[in-house]
Parts: sequence; C-alpha cells; structure tokens
Amino acid sequence: MLALERAGLAGRVRPALMPMPGRMVHDAAGKTAFLRYGQQDHEVIYALSREKLNRILVDAAAECPGIELRFSTRCLDVDVAAGSVALRNEHDGRDYHESFEVLLGADGAGSAVRAALVARDLVGAQELPLDHDYKELIIPAVPPAGGASAGQYAFEPRALHIWPRGGYMLIALPNTDGSFTATLFLSRDGDPGFGRCEAMRP
Ligand SMILES: Cc1cc2nc3c(=O)[nH]c(=O)nc-3n(C[C@H](O)[C@H](O)[C@H](O)COP(=O)(O)OP(=O)(O)OC[C@H]3O[C@@H](n4cnc5c(N)ncnc54)[C@H](O)[C@@H]3O)c2cc1C
Repeated sequence: MLALERAGLAGRVRPALMPMPGRMVHDAAGKTAFLRYGQQDHEVIYALSREKLNRILVDAAAECPGIELRFSTRCLDVDVAAGSVALRNEHDGRDYHESFEVLLGADGAGSAVRAALVARDLVGAQELPLDHDYKELIIPAVPPAGGASAGQYAFEPRALHIWPRGGYMLIALPNTDGSFTATLFLSRDGDPGFGRCEAMRP
C-alpha cells in the first residue's frame, strides 16, 4: 500500500480492496475458528484481484510519456558487455535486438535476465524448485434467491479462509463480486498430488 501511495495509485486500487481482519481456519470435521490478525479494528490485511492490480499498473505505466509498452515480447538473452538485449515478438516469431544503457530485469522467478548474467559468470544464483505446485480455482457466488441481482458469498467474506491438511492446503480470498479465488497447494508427485490427476496438472 505504501508503494502504491508513493506511486499515486492508492486511490485507484482502494475500491478493489477486500479487508480481511483475520483468518478462518476450517478443520477436517468442518468446524471453523476465526483468528484475528491484529488487536485493533484497523489492523487488517487486504485481498486484491491480481488481474485488477495488473490492469491498474499497466494503465498507469501507459499514461507515462516516456514508456512504450510492448506485449508478447520475450527476452531471450542479454549481452551486458555489448549493451544489447535479444527479444522475440511472439506474434510473428521475429527475433531482434535492442540496445540499452540501463536494463531493469523484472521477469520473475524464472528470470531470463538472471539466466543470461549467470551464463556469463557475472552473478551466481541457486534455484531450488519446491516439491509443491499450485492451482487457482474459483468458488462462485451463491445464486441470488428471489430474483435479487447480486449473488451471496458462499461463506464469511471478511476473512482469509484456510483448509490446512498437513502436506497440502487450500486457501480462499474474497473478491468484490461475491466469489472467492481459491488456491490449492499440493505436492507434485506425492499422494495426494497433482501428478495423480491429469485434469488438475498446473
Ligand atoms: C500462488 C501464489 C500466491 C501468492 N500470493 C501472494 C500474496 O498473497 N501476496 C504477495 O505479496 N505475494 C504473493 N505471491 C508472490 C508474488 O506473486 C510474487 O512475489 C510477485 O509476483 C513477484 O513479482 P515479480 O515482478 O518479481 O515477478 P512476476 O509477478 O512473476 O512478473 C514477471 C513478469 O515477467 C514476465 N516474463 C517472464 N519471463 C519473461 C521473459 N523471458 N521475457 C519477457 N517477460 C518475461 C512474466 O510474464 C511476468 O509478467 C504469491 C505467489 C504465488 C505463486
């Protein structure tokens, strides 16, 4: 939130925030326990749709005169000594180079920029993949009764819901439209595991 405020974007993000004062733990017998995150009413965490946040950030970037956005453009390699980055247009498969003075690599956990630096011995890096993977699921709003237009939340919306089950777990966060976005964290090769179910492989 502090970073968004400093970027002047908190006002755009605020309407999309869902406050969660605590976590709701669901045990295997179906019993629930609500655990508050803080002691004061303002001590909450927020759920925010990743898609909405991404759109707000991309729109804000597009409004800056010095920024040109290029989608579907993959970084293939970086030659730091030559100040050149190799790119691929994923629409037409065309490869090309751009020169740079400063390059900010923000390409995530499997960063191609980092891989290029490692390949040239400019940095060292250790990558340790987790045994677990995840799959995003939607718990839809309960259809409205008696012709009302908006659906109801399937359970308490002011909480981060957790179904802890030892080696795996499900979590669910509320969206503004009555649905929840759930994430199933499950072993890749264990039992239960994603590897045992074709349809669920992430
Ligand atoms: C299931 C899950 C739940 C999470 N929940 C939370 C949470 O509740 N709160 C929280 O704060 N964090 C959460 N995180 C962590 C958070 O998502 C990451 O820390 C964050 O997204 C990392 O940001 P990033 O910009 O470094 O990379 P990313 O968000 O991964 O962005 C990297 C971008 O680079 C692009 N890219 C990748 N390779 C290339 C390439 N070769 N060329 C060009 N572009 C490329 C990708 O398409 C992507 O757009 C969660 C992560 C996961 C997996």
